[in-house]
Amino acid sequence: MDKKVGIYVHVPFCKSKCSYCNFYSLPDNTSGEEVIYAYQGAVIKHIEEYSAQLDGYLIDTVYFGGGTPSHIGAARLISILGALKKSGHVLLDSEITVEVNPGGITKEGLAKLRKAGFNRLSIGVQCADDQALKSLGRTHTFADAEETIKDARAAGFNNISVDVIYGLPSQTKDSWEHTVQLIAGLKAEHISCYNLKIEEGTGLYTYKDSPFLPDDEAQSDMYLYAVDMLARFGYKQYEISNFARRGFESKHNIKYWLGDDYIGFGPAAHSYVDRCRYSFTEDVMQYVEQVKHGRRIVEHDEQMSDFENAGEYLMLRLRTTHGISEEEYYNIYRLKMDFVLELMHKYEENGWATFKDGRWRFTPKGFMVSNTLIGEILEAQTRQRTQISKPWQTDQVGDDTQLTLFDKRPVAAGLFGGRRLVGRNEFL
Ligand code: SF4
Repeated sequence: MDKKVGIYVHVPFCKSKCSYCNFYSLPDNTSGEEVIYAYQGAVIKHIEEYSAQLDGYLIDTVYFGGGTPSHIGAARLISILGALKKSGHVLLDSEITVEVNPGGITKEGLAKLRKAGFNRLSIGVQCADDQALKSLGRTHTFADAEETIKDARAAGFNNISVDVIYGLPSQTKDSWEHTVQLIAGLKAEHISCYNLKIEEGTGLYTYKDSPFLPDDEAQSDMYLYAVDMLARFGYKQYEISNFARRGFESKHNIKYWLGDDYIGFGPAAHSYVDRCRYSFTEDVMQYVEQVKHGRRIVEHDEQMSDFENAGEYLMLRLRTTHGISEEEYYNIYRLKMDFVLELMHKYEENGWATFKDGRWRFTPKGFMVSNTLIGEILEAQTRQRTQISKPWQTDQVGDDTQLTLFDKRPVAAGLFGGRRLVGRNEFL
């Protein structure tokens, strides 16, 4: 038993609903103590019943996301973590993260979490401008964020991440620059910097065409400013939206980008185990009832083929500054990568990609247009499918020369290849 796995626990409760949020979460006015109590019991039962399957794994990361996990209180989070520790092999040096909102947890609550083994906090700061926070429906101020970080340090947390969003309505270049500097001044170990996406079904959706939203050029400038300024503050970019001081990259999130296994619990939680993706019902009471009666809670499942996994390798690793390597791709999938090389050379000419130490990766400018670039790459991968080379398929492979990865041939460009690109929401 040496296979490592990450555990994700979805806690779908929040004080209120933020105007940009499309995660599965219930604000207080649509849930309440009874629902939270039932949820806690169901997640614990689910984890306990899964203990036989967990037996084959070493758990090296645990992530409580939401929603706002801190909203259900430290005691409940600790009881769920306790069930996990009893049912699975949680390594002593596991990274155990919990998302909290500024002002949403007391000093005592933080101390209890730390004592119980939580060792990483992810704090939803989002912006340093209180007026902007209010207009997004956030229920805290920037001063609350400063206070929560101070309390977390006092409680013994030495691994803190903060989330921040750019591209907000009426956000100017100056206000963004001010936010970045104040966020860096919080001295967290890790910063996630997301672009505001206006999703259908959210409160902000009616304003999707508003002239008050920063245009593409302004958003690009904001992103590039953040990449540059955070580097000056000692935060190294390691993924499109993630920056960390050395040694504080999120071990859990890296699993998503490297295609490692993770197992989810709770409504709307996603899992990826042995190349199978599945997710649970996005209805907390349905989840509770189904777990209670031992019925099916899986809403979607999909066994990934080798070819699909190869596509995910390209799509997910190109989100990271680690990037992709032709040898690695061939060693894992026995597939040639000439179609990617052709595109990468083109992207390099445009300043979107670089090649160093045998790996291709996007530049910050490339990250800005990475959805389009990755779409092109996946399209090319699909077109080359008939040229897949596997050693046991000698009629396709021929001799070793034909397996050469540098074999160039024309690649037709296209967008997205009919696939959905994986974004943050699909992980959380
Ligand atoms: S953004 Fe976070 S705090 Fe706001 S509603 Fe969504 S999950 Fe809750």
